[in-house]
Amino acid sequence: MAFDRIPGETWETYRARHSPLVGEALQGLVLYANMRRPRQPAETVININAHISGHVSQLVKLALSLYPARRQDLLDRMPPSLLAQLSSRRPVSLSFRRGFVSFLRRIADDHRLQVRPDSKVTGVEPVAPEGVRVTVDDGRSAIYARVVVTTRPTQIRDLFPTGDIHELFAERNCPRAWTRSYLIRADEELIDFPRRPDADAPLGFWVIDPYGSYTDTDPDQAMHRITAANKQHPGPYWVCFSNSDTSISDAEAWSLARDSLFLFPEPELIAETIAEWPAYPSAEAVREGWFDRVAARQGRHGIYFVGEILSGPTAECISSFVDTAIPQWFTPPETPTPH
Ligand SMILES: Cc1cc2nc3c(=O)[nH]c(=O)nc-3n(C[C@H](O)[C@H](O)[C@H](O)COP(=O)(O)OP(=O)(O)OC[C@H]3O[C@@H](n4cnc5c(N)ncnc54)[C@H](O)[C@@H]3O)c2cc1C
Repeated sequence: MAFDRIPGETWETYRARHSPLVGEALQGLVLYANMRRPRQPAETVININAHISGHVSQLVKLALSLYPARRQDLLDRMPPSLLAQLSSRRPVSLSFRRGFVSFLRRIADDHRLQVRPDSKVTGVEPVAPEGVRVTVDDGRSAIYARVVVTTRPTQIRDLFPTGDIHELFAERNCPRAWTRSYLIRADEELIDFPRRPDADAPLGFWVIDPYGSYTDTDPDQAMHRITAANKQHPGPYWVCFSNSDTSISDAEAWSLARDSLFLFPEPELIAETIAEWPAYPSAEAVREGWFDRVAARQGRHGIYFVGEILSGPTAECISSFVDTAIPQWFTPPETPTPH
């Protein structure tokens, strides 16, 4: 990799001439160097090992395809754990047969939930002693014994315009971050997507500059550029993401994103959106006991909060938080056994 460098070349053009593997390999080396520093916490080393294992198997595949005549010789020298990784049949990704919406409908039906789309809640207020009044934008309202709020901090701030809840979820404690998503059509892919022998069409994720804005030494340079491209259905369509913000126009953001999208020669933009994601409390708020303050506020006047800001920015973290919290909040206390 060092010999293939043009003096003075920047990362963007260097990377564009190589497969994503180059970035992955470089990252693996840096991680490995860090792992060798003394007194690392055990989980850091375990995680780094797991990460590097993925790189090693990629590098081995590269070596095997570069030296086909020596394939058996190379395989004979590899440890059994590496051979097992190489022949792993783990799928690139899994999808829902009849789409994600069918999955959501099934959850609602199984739990006999009443879901009301296009109904914006405009007010959540305690009304002692009955419970909590929830008002919707068409003016209707109803009183519930208890209410769980699952929106983002920005909407919590709107729903509670004053008071301690507003202060807890204020911009100071819960700063906004943005992700842009682009649906693109790419008729040509410069790098073939890995194909499982028994699969109809390869689906999955290219990670480019993994979550660049957060890890790059020059965050300004990483902003607005594509971090990942995801093919969810067979065909020429991909969903791409960038860590971005609202400081530039949609057109400027797409121009930067397109420029960084080296996987496809002529990507055509079909649709785009910007979402407030990921949501984290600020480091300062966490240091000052933000999580304890929210925990102490849970359930007061029958109002609870769940969602990404409390549990982390993936569906997995959110559902495991909810799985633990809801039974604790909503199971009636057991009747004390008489002595
Ligand atoms: C581009 C992108 C890619 C992602 N990729 C992944 C991934 O690959 N894997 C993964 O696990 N996670 C991923 N995530 C993260 C995941 O989608 C979020 O962490 C998760 O959806 C957050 O769940 P939540 O319940 O906290 O909030 P949300 O999903 O935002 O739910 C809040 C809901 O409240 C509604 N709402 C807001 N205000 C009101 C109001 N006033 N009245 C009524 N309803 C209201 C909103 O419409 C919304 O439906 C991704 C997120 C983004 C943006």
